[in-house]
This record gives sequence, structure tokens and C-alpha cells, in this order.
Amino acid sequence: MSKYPHLLEPLDLGFTTLKNRVLMGSMHTGLEEAKGGFEKMAAYFGERARGECGLMVTGGISPNRQGWTKPFAAKLSTKGEAAQHKIITKRVHEEGGKICMQILHTGRYGYHPFLVSPSKIKSPITPFKPWKLSNRAIKGTIDDYADCAALAQEAGYDGIEIMGSEGYLINQFIAERTNDRKDEWGGSYDNRIQLPLQILLKTREKVGKNFIIIYRLSMLDLVEGGSSWEEVVKLAKLVERAGATIINTGIGWHEARVPTIATMVPRAAFTWVTHRLKGEVKIPLITSNRINMPNVAEQVLADGHADMISMARPFLADSDWVKKAMEGREDEINTCIGCNQACLDHVFKNQRASCLVNPRACYETELNYEPAVTIKRVAVVGAGPAGLASATIAAQRGHEVTLFEASGEIGGQFNMAKTIPGKEEFYETIRYFNKQIELTGVKLHLNTPVSAEDLIKGNFDEVILCTGVTPRVIKLEGEDHEKTLTYVEVLAQKKPVGKKVAIIGAGGIGFDMAEYLSHEGEPSSLNIDKYMDEWGIDKNYNRPGGLKDGDLEQHSAREIYLLQRSEGKLGAKLGKTTGWIHRSSLKHKGIKMISSVRYQKIDDQGLHITINEEPQVLEVDNVVICAGQISHKTLFDPLTEAGISVHLVGGAKKAGELDAKRAIDEGSRLAATL
Ligand code: NAP
Ligand code: SF4
Repeated sequence: MSKYPHLLEPLDLGFTTLKNRVLMGSMHTGLEEAKGGFEKMAAYFGERARGECGLMVTGGISPNRQGWTKPFAAKLSTKGEAAQHKIITKRVHEEGGKICMQILHTGRYGYHPFLVSPSKIKSPITPFKPWKLSNRAIKGTIDDYADCAALAQEAGYDGIEIMGSEGYLINQFIAERTNDRKDEWGGSYDNRIQLPLQILLKTREKVGKNFIIIYRLSMLDLVEGGSSWEEVVKLAKLVERAGATIINTGIGWHEARVPTIATMVPRAAFTWVTHRLKGEVKIPLITSNRINMPNVAEQVLADGHADMISMARPFLADSDWVKKAMEGREDEINTCIGCNQACLDHVFKNQRASCLVNPRACYETELNYEPAVTIKRVAVVGAGPAGLASATIAAQRGHEVTLFEASGEIGGQFNMAKTIPGKEEFYETIRYFNKQIELTGVKLHLNTPVSAEDLIKGNFDEVILCTGVTPRVIKLEGEDHEKTLTYVEVLAQKKPVGKKVAIIGAGGIGFDMAEYLSHEGEPSSLNIDKYMDEWGIDKNYNRPGGLKDGDLEQHSAREIYLLQRSEGKLGAKLGKTTGWIHRSSLKHKGIKMISSVRYQKIDDQGLHITINEEPQVLEVDNVVICAGQISHKTLFDPLTEAGISVHLVGGAKKAGELDAKRAIDEGSRLAATL
């Protein structure tokens, strides 16, 4: 019997049956607007259909120009545009899958000057003030949705999803915070929900009854002036009556100051919201957010929290997620670690999405790991992310790969990252690579520092140096004082740290260090109730929007100063969609974040600094240096001089702005070409 009976059970929708309870949730990838994007999307969705995903939803497509995400973004309002989509639906159907197209009107979240909203109220996260929609324009917009759905049907989609959450146009009509109209579309709740209800009625009328309509309903707005629980229930019932086939869960507006999908959010943290709605409607409910492994998804369904699970990013990380679960190969799943670094961060910078742990995501037509033509003997030195990706992909292609690692375990910097509260998902990536080493036959030698001589004697055709980085030593009086520690001494060697600490350097590792040192007890990333408390989310839903009243304040285990020499806010170079979370989290804990600092010396008194020429002493017990890294590549010159074909990958190639995304990407791309 399957380990996942609930997850793999078909879902009968009356006119069609989904083969399991897994929905690949909508996610904008940038392919929608890319050159040759439709072919690329066909390959992207085709692979996921082949991987047995029950139902997929495309990224958001606008029903008209006003609803664009950005100038010339994807829209579907003409027959010509519909024809372009046929390549996607054809490929998905050939692979035995089903696919819906999401209709997304961004309203005031649009990044262009034609944006519209129920009222002229600017969003805090976009630069343009919206135009107020007239009564006539609202009716036109409803027609545009219905026409768009009919065109999607013509293009061969199995259904559509109407995006009614995350703070987009429909949500802007529903919530008082964005709708101060006095006409039939504003004022009472009944008036404010007319837009989605009219869209649903008109759409159902146009597409007939044998067409899936998913309505994504904002069940927890997480903003002031959002919907109350009673309003959510009322809307769900009316949405069902107006013709929706399935209701999907939306959590949090984009402007909400609560993290809802990033890695520090506990797994399945928000399924309780969907659970509250169970029993109120008869149509199936989909739940969502931070569900990334089959056991978690199965438990959510077994507990009766929902009828289906939606996952978006986990399908970037692994197109065969469902197939592996079906075949009991869950330990082979390349798990989404919730980092956002290659997916959402890219999309918000107008770049094509991909995945930190799977650089093939959205590059299915461009990056392929074909069997090698000539089998080579390949040595990979260093089993951090760069070395692991290089070694396992080269071996998967048929090369004979030997992986040398000086320490007693694989993972490199990930072994430090996984100890940071909120970064536990890194364990999964290490588990994945351990399994890949086993499956691909990489010969792993742990506790084996190799010299250039060893490698020359080894007679390898190719040597890939993934020897990573060493922490930068800074020149400062007292740099060898007993108070001074490096981040490696704290995170890897677990040296004791006093109650008052100054951290020199506020890059990714400085922030991680502050999180690590400020934290106490069980990480909130592993405890849903603790997490809800930490971010002021009220599971009792006492106030509209679902937030608790009052300021967020947390206790820090230590008094911490996080310092940088440059001007401006700390963490400016952190991820676009996660930097604010790290800053808020430290702010709530009272961590003092100081920029424009000059370091003078470390002595028995503490750390002597100047800020704007003003001398100060931070009377701390320890100073932890997190001042970046330098490349470690001592093997490169002797090997090159010996005429060996040597490649540098990841931190060994360039230490500045190193992150695992670049390391894995470079390693994978190199291994694909050997
Ligand atoms: P980093 O991002 O380069 O930051 C180094 C910090 O040290 C900066 O704040 C820099 O700021 C300071 N610094 C540099 N040279 C210094 C010197 N000589 N004396 C004093 N301060 C100095 O390096 P990192 O924090 O070690 O991170 C390494 C990489 O891993 C980064 O790419 C980072 O993004 C990535 N990472 C990412 C995450 C994540 O959450 N996404 C987490 C951990 C690491 P000033 O020059 O202004 O003082
Ligand atoms: Fe998940 Fe990170 Fe990949 Fe995005 S980049 S899909 S968050 S692992």
C-alpha cells in the first residue's frame, strides 16, 4: 500500500477526475514574457505533467492591459494570443497532465502607469498611484475576465484560476483598506464582493459547466483593514454558489509585513486557516504555503485540513516530486528550501526564475544533462554545494567521478547554515546530495585532503576545484584578543559566546550570526504556535485581517550590536523578498544595527569604534568577525602548470558575493559540458 494514500487518491470533480491531490500552484517565472517563452513553458509544464502532478496552474495572465504586472506583460484578450498558448496545453495533455490558466489582474500592484483600482489609494510597495475604475470600466473588466476565460478554454486549458487573493485587484475591491467607494461596488461588504461574484457568474456562463474554475480566496489577509473570518466564510459560500469548482487558499497580501512562504515559516504553517473553512462549503478546498515534502502533505490531508495540496516552488526544485512520492523514492526528492533566491528574487528583479537547488528549472530547453559521449575520469575537490553539484551531475552523465573532501562530512558551508534557526531546510539538500552520490556512483573520499601531487598522480582527465572560501582576516588592533572569534569558531566549532556581543560585518553571515546568537529555545520555524506569536498572527481571528493588536516585541538571548562600515540600511544586499524579514526579525528582538562604523581596536574593555568621528566603546564580551571571505584555490597554479585540465567553481573561483545559488549553478553547468 502507498505511504501516501490521501495524497495520491484521485479527486472526482464530476465532469473530470484529477489523478491525485497535488496542485502545482501558480507562479510567475518570467517565461511568460521571454523570447520563445511559449516553447519554454511547454517544456517546463510538460516535464511536470510527466512527473505525475495532478493539476497545474500557469503564472498569472492578465485579462486586459490595465491588469498587467508590468509594461507588455502577458495578457490574454485576443484569439491570436490564445493560439500561442496551444503549444503548452498540447504538450501537457500529451504527457497525461491537466492545466489551468491563472487570470491575474494586478490592480494597484501593477508596475506601470495605467494601473487601476477601486479607489485612488496607492499601495505601499509600488511607485504608481492607481486610477479609479469607473462603473462602466468595472463592468468592462468583468467582461474581460469572462472573455479571457473563454479564450483560455479555446487554447485548450482544462480550466482557469481566478486570482482573488494576495492583495490583487479583486482583493482590493473586497477590503475596506483599498475600497472607499460610495457606489454599488463599495460601502457594505455585500457591495465590495460583487466584483468577484459577477466575474464568476459571467465566466461560468461563458465556459459552460465542464470547465474547472478555481477561485483563489484570501482566507487570511494579514493586513489592517482586511476581511473578518465571518466575511471570508460568507464569500466562500457565495463563490461556490456562483459556479466555482474548487476554492484555493490565499494567505497574506504582498504588502503584509508577515513572512508567509520564506524558509523560516514552519512547514504547513497555514493549513489551519483552510481547515477552519472545511464544512462551510461542499466544493473541494486546496491548502497551501510551505508544504514541501510528501509526508507533510499527507499529514495535512489525513488531518482533514483540506482536499488538495498546492505547491509552487517545490515543483521548480523537482519536476518529479509526485512520481518520486508514488514510487516510494521520497529520499530522492530535491527539496525546495524556501530560500526564494533563484525564484521570487529573480522575478522581482525582472529576471527569469529558476531554482537554487535545481538550475534546470525554467531552462528545460537549454540546460540538459545528456549522457557523456566520452567517459572521463573526473576529480572533484571539495564537497560543498559547488562540488556536490559538479560531481553528481558529471557522474549522472556517465563520467567516473571521485570526490575528495577534507572534512568528515559533505555539505561545506551548508553545514554551518543548517545550524541557524530558520534554516533547517538545508538538512534536506545535504540528504538529497548524499542520496545522489549513492545513486550516481560518485566515489566519495571523506577526511581526505588532497595535494596537487596526489591529483597529478591520479591521472584524471579533468579536475574541478570546489575548495570554497576561508574567512577574511581583518587588520585591527586586538584582532587576536581572546574576545575575538570568527564565525567559523562560533558556528562550526561551537566556541562559547558571552551575553554581550558585537558582530563585525552585516552581510548574509552577519545577519545569520545575529539570528543565531539572539535566539533561545525551540526555533519558531519548527513550532507553528511560536511562529504565529512571533509575527502577531491571531489563530482565533479576533480582528479583521487576522493580526493581533499591538507592537511585536521579542526577547533576545543576548545584547547584540550588528555593525557595518558602509552607509545606509543594513542588509541592503540581502535577498529582495527576504531581506526585510531578516531586518524585521532582528528589530523585534532589539538588536542594534549600526552603519557608518569605523573599527579602532579590541581590548579588555570591548570594541572601540567611531561613528561619524565620535569615539565609542561597545563593552562587549565577544567580537565576532563576519567580514566576508577570500577564495581558497592553492591547488590551481600547480595543477595548471602540470598541464592538467583544471576548472574553478563557486567560492574557489570568486569569493565576493558568493552564494549557494551561484555555486550550484556553475557546478551544474560545467558538469553538463564535460
Ligand atoms: P558579505 O556578504 O560579503 O558581507 C561581508 C560583510 O563584512 C559586509 O557587511 C562588509 O561590509 C564587511 N566587511 C568586508 N570587509 C571588511 C573588513 N576588511 N573589515 C570589516 N568589515 C568588512 O559576506 P558574508 O556575510 O560572509 O556572506 C557570504 C556570502 O554568503 C554572501 O554572498 C551572502 O549573500 C551569502 N549568504 C547569504 C545568506 C542568505 O541568507 N541569503 C546567508 C548567509 C550567507 P562593510 O564593508 O560595509 O563593513
Ligand atoms: Fe525553493 Fe529556493 Fe528553489 Fe525557490 S530557489 S524553488 S525557494 S529552493
